[in-house]
Order: sequence, then structure tokens, then C-alpha cells
Amino acid sequence: ETITIKDLAEKMHVKAADLIKRLMMLGMLVTINQEIDAETAAILAQEFGYEVEVKPEFDIESLLAEEPETDPAALKPRPPIVTVMGHVDHGKTSLLDAIRKTNVTATEAGGITQHIGAYQVEKNNRKITFIDTPGHEAFTAMRARGAKVTDVAVLVVAADDGVMPQTVEAINHARAANVPIVVALNKIDKPNANPDRVKKELADQGLVPEDWGGDTIVVPVSALKKQGIEDLLEMILLVADILELKANPDRPARGTIIESRLDKGRGPVATVLVQNGTLNVGDTLVAGQQFARVRAMIDDRGRRVSEAGPSTPVEVLGFSEVPEAGEAFVVVEERLARQIAQKRLAKKREEEARARAKIALEDVYRRIQEGQIKELPLIVKADVQGSVEALSKALERLGTDEVRVNLIHTGVGAITETDIMLASASGAIIIGFNVRPDVNARKAQEREKVDIRLYQVIYDAINDVKAALSGLLEPEY
Ligand code: GDP
Repeated sequence: ETITIKDLAEKMHVKAADLIKRLMMLGMLVTINQEIDAETAAILAQEFGYEVEVKPEFDIESLLAEEPETDPAALKPRPPIVTVMGHVDHGKTSLLDAIRKTNVTATEAGGITQHIGAYQVEKNNRKITFIDTPGHEAFTAMRARGAKVTDVAVLVVAADDGVMPQTVEAINHARAANVPIVVALNKIDKPNANPDRVKKELADQGLVPEDWGGDTIVVPVSALKKQGIEDLLEMILLVADILELKANPDRPARGTIIESRLDKGRGPVATVLVQNGTLNVGDTLVAGQQFARVRAMIDDRGRRVSEAGPSTPVEVLGFSEVPEAGEAFVVVEERLARQIAQKRLAKKREEEARARAKIALEDVYRRIQEGQIKELPLIVKADVQGSVEALSKALERLGTDEVRVNLIHTGVGAITETDIMLASASGAIIIGFNVRPDVNARKAQEREKVDIRLYQVIYDAINDVKAALSGLLEPEY
């Protein structure tokens, strides 16, 4: 906030020349049309005997920050929100279908189910919300935008195939987000299913099954034969109970956009997941730079509804433009919603001009010194498993008392888009040994600006990280 000398003088009913003189005495040379900042103006006003009250800047984020609940009694249990992850072809889509079908009540059987990006089922008179887009890619892309939607991750592992690279990825992504994992051991109907082998592989990944003395719930299921589905739902509710998920249905809604598109007939359509409060037809909301007056809401069975409470997914009509998936939404009064949308658009443009700076290896030491980081998250990709292991071990050993090296994901193969999204969401640096980013990863890297370091010599990688940790790294040009 700034003001010209001329305007300030008018407001204070003094001559501009007097202000200029006073500023000269304070060591500032200014002209009458020059803008001075709020702080200088305040000092000046005080010099002339005015009481100064600096109005806080219009700060959207603090304005929209969720007020903590003052009355604990207002908090009611809410359904858990579940994402299904796992290796390709292990049965994620089949499982989501099976869950949806087993739980459609008799009266609704044959009714139209509609894909809106999430759906709810009932078990023991309690609801469970499933995100309908399987995979950790979508999950992490949302997280990279700051959205925390998932309460429980269901990890699908095929009993005839076992733990595969994307299984490990999914585990790491869920762990990085601090989301508890329930394992669905799928395809147990297959003659070559080998649950014990899979359990051993899970244990190797730190997911020790309960019947082996660990605390990972493993539920044998067959998505194809619809076996074990009820048990799985039961276990999800059990985990949800431990999490004590609660929300207050009696406040204006807030939540996350989980899908969006431009519909030819209906205009911009977005599926939102209400995370707190209740969303009503007629509410106005802001999501990122987009504004909406809720014209209609449609649930996962294709029915029009007038309200949606905590953990409920609904399609919302009435957006001015298509909002981005992963964006948070908040219900506010219309004038404010419009104002915020505008401010954000301006800010976004500004930010686009300056490239987004994620953590770079050169910054590591400064950030350690400033106490901003206590651990250095790394993702390690290499051409062969042996190198992954050698490099990972060596890097982990570089941790010091001030900063721990945290390998959030390691793997064999090219650097992929999901690696970039995970790095972006976790503030990690990617170390590649004898591998490069693939095409999609390169595009994502341009967007997300994460630091990728490529090496052909393990020693060089170790040296760079060591140098970064001790503040000796030369910037890379
Ligand atoms: P996704 O890639 O993880 O989503 O896997 P899909 O759900 O597309 O399933 C991949 C293949 O496995 C399909 O041919 C399914 O029919 C099959 N499949 C899924 N679940 C089961 C199961 O429980 N038993 C058997 N035998 N096949 C299954």
C-alpha cells in the first residue's frame, strides 16, 4: 500500500511542502507526486500528532483460513474418503466397480449410476466415500496442489503377481502423505494365487500383515467374484474409527474440486468433495480463480440434491469457468467471492511471470542454516537395482546431526511424471543415475520446477549432496 505526498497532505490537512520538509529532516528526499509506503506515511502522520491505524492488507489466505471449531460438540463423525492405488492390471478399476455394485440398495438396483469422480456406499449404516479415479498419480497431482483429500488408501495387490514397481510407488506416495494403508489382496480366486508370497513381499516393504504380528490390515478379495468386499469395507471403517474423522455440518462448506470439465449443454461442471460444512444450492463459492453460484447439484446416482454434507461428492453447476482439479473451494458471500477470484487471478499472473522456485540443491545449506529444513527429501532413480541400492545407502549415510537425508522414493527406470509430482508435493530433489526424464516428466518439470540432478558417476552424486549439506556446492549453470 502506498500513498502520494499530495494525497497524504490533503488527508492530514497540512501543506505538502511541510511534509516534504519533515521528510527531508528524516533523511528522505521526495517530490509531491512521489508515492511513499504505509510505514513512512505512518511515521510522518505521527510526527504531525496523528494517531495512526494501519489497515491490514486484504489477505485472502488468512481471510479464508479455516476457523478452528470452538464448540467440540458441533463436530460430528464424517465418512472416510478412500483412494484405491496399486500396480497396473492388479484390479483397481474392477475393485471400484465391485464395491459400487455390491452396495447399491435393492430399490436403487438398476438405477442409473453416474460417474462423477467419486461415489459413496453404505456399510453397517455408515457411509464410505471412494474417489473413482484409481492410482497414485491423481492422488499425488492433487497433493502437489495442496489438496489433502484422502483419509485411507486401499492398496490393491494381485495375489498371483505380488508387489510390483507401481505397488512400491503407491506405498511411498501414501506414506509421503501420511495416509494409512489397507491392503486388498486381490484375485484370490486365481489358481496360481500365492497370498503368503505376497505377504512376505509386503513385509519387505515395511507393511507387516497383522497375522504376521504387524499392524497392516490385509484383506483377501476377488473383485471378479465379488468376494471379500464386505470385509474390506468393514476394515476401512475400522481404520476410519481410529482416525476419528469429524466435521461440522452446520457451517459454510469448504472442500476440494476433484474433477472438472466443460459440458456442451451445461457449461462448466465440477465435482466437489465437501470436507467440512454443508454445501447448499444458492451458495456462492470461490475455487482458485473461479467463482460459482451453485445453481444445481447432482449426486453419484444422478439425483438432484439441494444440500451436500461432509465427505459427500456432488457435481456442481454454476461455475463461471472450469475450475482446476485439486483446487480448494470455500463458500463465502457473493461479493467477496468475486473479489477473491479477481485478486487471485491477478496474483497468479504475477506469479507466472516469476517462475516458481522450488527447493534447489544450492539452497539446501542456506535453508539448513535458517532452520527451514531438518531433513532433505530425495527421490533416487537409476538404471539398475544395484545402483539404486548403492546410491541410496551412500546418500542416506550423508545425513548429519542438523539434517537427515530422507529417501521418499527410489526406483529403477526413467524419471517419470509421477516422480516429478511427488517431488513437487514433498519439496524433494530428484537424483537420476544413468537415467533421464521421459517426455511427460520433462513437461511436468517445466511446470513444477523441481530440481533434477543427473549423474553418470555415483561418486559425483554423493559429492554434490555432501557439498550441498555443508554449503560448498557451486551453482549449476
Ligand atoms: P487396474 O489396471 O488395476 O485398474 O486393473 P483392472 O481392474 O483393469 O483389472 C485388470 C484385469 O484383471 C482385468 O482383466 C480384470 O478382469 C482382471 N481382474 C481384476 N480383478 C480380478 C479378480 O479378482 N480375479 C481375477 N481372476 N481377475 C481379476
